[in-house]
Amino acid sequence: MNIDSPYLHPEYETLSREEISKLQTERLQETVRRCAKVPFYERKFREMGIKAEDITSPQDVRKLPFTTKQDLRDTYPFGLAAVPLTDCVRLHSSSGTTGNPTVILHTKNDLDEWANQVARNLWMVGLRPDDVFQNSSGYGMFTGGLGFQYGAERMGMLTVPAAAGNSLRQIKFIKDFGTTAIHAVPSYLTRLYEVMQEQGVDPRRDTKLRVFAIGAEPHSEEQRQRIEKMFGVKAYNSFGMSEMCGPGVGFECQEQNGLHFWEDYYIVEIVNPETLEPVPDGEIGELVLTTLRREAMPLIRYRTRDLTRVLGRTCPCGRNHIRLDRMRGRSDDMMVLRGVNIFPIQIEKILMTFPELASNYLITLTTDNDNDNMTVEVELAEMFTDDYARLQSLTKSITRALKDEILLTPIVKLVPKGSLPVSEGKAVRVVDKRKVYQ
Ligand code: AMP
Ligand code: ZN
Repeated sequence: MNIDSPYLHPEYETLSREEISKLQTERLQETVRRCAKVPFYERKFREMGIKAEDITSPQDVRKLPFTTKQDLRDTYPFGLAAVPLTDCVRLHSSSGTTGNPTVILHTKNDLDEWANQVARNLWMVGLRPDDVFQNSSGYGMFTGGLGFQYGAERMGMLTVPAAAGNSLRQIKFIKDFGTTAIHAVPSYLTRLYEVMQEQGVDPRRDTKLRVFAIGAEPHSEEQRQRIEKMFGVKAYNSFGMSEMCGPGVGFECQEQNGLHFWEDYYIVEIVNPETLEPVPDGEIGELVLTTLRREAMPLIRYRTRDLTRVLGRTCPCGRNHIRLDRMRGRSDDMMVLRGVNIFPIQIEKILMTFPELASNYLITLTTDNDNDNMTVEVELAEMFTDDYARLQSLTKSITRALKDEILLTPIVKLVPKGSLPVSEGKAVRVVDKRKVYQ
């Protein structure tokens, strides 16, 4: 580890475009060979008449089949494993919905590479082994916990697994341990700042904070800048998803001009979500990723549903890995609120257990003072709007039940029957008014 170098892995970070292309070709062939051991892919390759030798450039990825989240659900839990389960050492799982959740398997090497990816990102934004890194994100199945933990340790930093919430304790750790860097979802950092203000803590005067890694949920450039101004700290956008490993897939460098997606680990495509054809650079489309190093569960042309665009393939920082714009949102109906994935159907399921409620409901997502909130309006089955105590206690019970399901506390509003809009076709269940679009 050369701590004077701006690069942690210069042999990969500074590859030329030609070198990236050559490496990707070799690694894509390897991935196809690995996938040929998975019945799901073996059948598709056979039907399409594809062999690893047919891959002669990274663009040949287009000859390969797409993989969707539904494929992961259909093969739940271990159907996409490319190695025996005895070679796997960990699994992560996405928050379950009505159907099967998705499971991602990891071998020892997968975890090793994942830690390298995260370490590379943290180094890229100027962190060094003498920094103190506080990971204020959820641990457990959510990959932001262990992903950053192992990556920060790999880089050699003193790493504090503070986990999410409990702001007073977070602030105490920041002050007592001399924390210089935090990873958290952006909406949490704005909350943390409010608590600091209440406590009379000035982050500039009373802490050593200098770098934030923010991600796991869509956020605007304005919100990032606001966070930077509040704390006097540089905040870098971190993109990740469980299916690719977790955090570490894409990260901003110190130029803050888009997310570098690591092309020694992934082939990046942006496609039109309708036609599935590639869109030109600069045009918004769905992000499609192919893993190049993963052993336990390699994924080919995984449709992320995230919408973004290519900004460039060179950067003044010296890294030529593709740069993508911050995510615009998702093409499906999943809501990501404060880093938690929520499906409307989870809300519906709870509401429907209350006989006092009618069937119509509306979820509204808003950004209030930079915090993302959810309001659930639901129609009452019968009118008892004059019984205030009864309304209040019902509202409380619904709120609690929803919180148990989605792990966040929504604002529940009971409205008279017939007062919410009814659509002619499919019901519109979610109105997203958050400031995620620029
Ligand atoms: P999960 O697999 O549960 O970690 O969720 C991954 C999803 O979170 C991605 O597909 C994105 O929709 C979202 N996400 C993660 N990081 C970011 C980010 N930096 N900006 C916007 N959305 C993000
Ligand atoms: Zn750069």
